[in-house]
Amino acid sequence: MKDKKAMKSWISELNFSHPLVIAGPCSAETEEQVLKTALELKGSNVSIFRAGIWKPRTRPGGFEGVGEIGLKWLQKAKAETGLLMAIEVANAHHVQLALEHDIDVLWIGARTTVNPFAVQEIADALQNTDKIVLVKNPVNPDLSLWIGAVERLHNAGIKKLGIIHRGFSTYEKTKYRNNPEWQIAIDMQHKYANLPFIIDPSHITGKRDMIFQVTQEALDLNYDGMIIETHIDPDNAWSDAAQQVTPTQLKDIVSNLIIRKETDETDDYQQNLLKLRLQIDEFDSKLLEVIGKRMKVAESIGALKKEKNVAVLQNKRWNEVLEKMILDGSQKGLSEEFIIQFFKAIHQESIAHQEKVFNS
Ligand code: PEP
Ligand code: MN
Repeated sequence: MKDKKAMKSWISELNFSHPLVIAGPCSAETEEQVLKTALELKGSNVSIFRAGIWKPRTRPGGFEGVGEIGLKWLQKAKAETGLLMAIEVANAHHVQLALEHDIDVLWIGARTTVNPFAVQEIADALQNTDKIVLVKNPVNPDLSLWIGAVERLHNAGIKKLGIIHRGFSTYEKTKYRNNPEWQIAIDMQHKYANLPFIIDPSHITGKRDMIFQVTQEALDLNYDGMIIETHIDPDNAWSDAAQQVTPTQLKDIVSNLIIRKETDETDDYQQNLLKLRLQIDEFDSKLLEVIGKRMKVAESIGALKKEKNVAVLQNKRWNEVLEKMILDGSQKGLSEEFIIQFFKAIHQESIAHQEKVFNS
C-alpha cells in the first residue's frame, strides 16, 4: 500500500466526483421509498446509493430491516438511476446475497468491526472479488481493531478499500451521538494515507442540523468523501429519523461545502506558511523547555515528600490547580476540554517523575 494515488484511484477510476458522495436512507423500508429517494438523487453529485437491509439494533423490538427483498428494490433503483448500490454486511450470508444481487459496495458496520471473527468471515466470503469495501470504525475507540479489519480485507485480496469514520460510543452524553475523537481518525488516516477516507456525519451527530458543520470539518482535514443518510420523508423514517435529511437538503449541504486543496504552490502561500511554521516550531520548543523545567521542580517536590513519607498524589491541590488553569485558560481562548486533557497529561508525567524519585 505505497502509492497514494494508485490506491485512492478507485474513486477516479470509476469517475466518481471529488469529494465522493454516498447518500440514501438509513434503511430500505419499501420499494417506493427506495426508488423515490434514488430517483431524487439521480443527476446530482451522488455517486453511490446507500440503504441498510439488515439493521443492527441495540435493543430488540425495533425495526430490524426488510431483509433480502430489499436487495431486489436496490437492483431496480440501480437500473433506473445508474447509481452504484451500497449495503451493510455483517456476516458471510449477507455477503453471499449481496453478490447474488449485484450490489457494488459493501460496508462493514461499527458493531461488526469490533468482532474479528465476523470480519474474517466477511473477508473470506469476499475473497478476490472486485467489490468496493468500506470499513467503519469500531464502536469503541480502538485503533487496532479498525486497522485489523482493514488488514483482514486487504489479505483477502480486496483492492478497492475505503474507510468510514462514524464516531465512537461514550457513556457520558455529549452533543454528539457518537463522539468523533478526531485524533483516532487522524491516526488512521496517517496509517492508511493511500485509502479514501469518508466521513459519516449522520451517525456522528445524530442530528440533521449538525451534519453540514461536521462534514466541513472533515473536508478541512482532507477527507475524500462523505456518507449521509437521506430519506424522502426523514421525520417518518423507520430508523434514525432525527439524523436523516431530504434529497433536497442533501444537495444543499453538498453544494455549500468548501472543498480544500491538498496544498497551494504559489510563492506567497508557501512563504507565509513557512514564516508561521517557524513561529510554531519556536513555541513548541519553548513549551518543551518549560515543561521539562516543571518536571524538575516536580522531582524536587518528590524528594521532599519522600523525606517526610508523604503520598505522591495530593487530590486537593490537583483540583485547585485544575480549576485555576481552566479559568486562566478560558481568558486565553483555550477550551475547558483542552485544559483538562493537557493538565491531566502533565499531571500524569509529573507523578511519574515523582515516582521515579520515590523508587530511587
Ligand atoms: C448505518 O450506517 O446505518 C449504521 C448502522 O451505521 P453504524 O454501523 O455506523 O452504526
Ligand atoms: Mn443509520
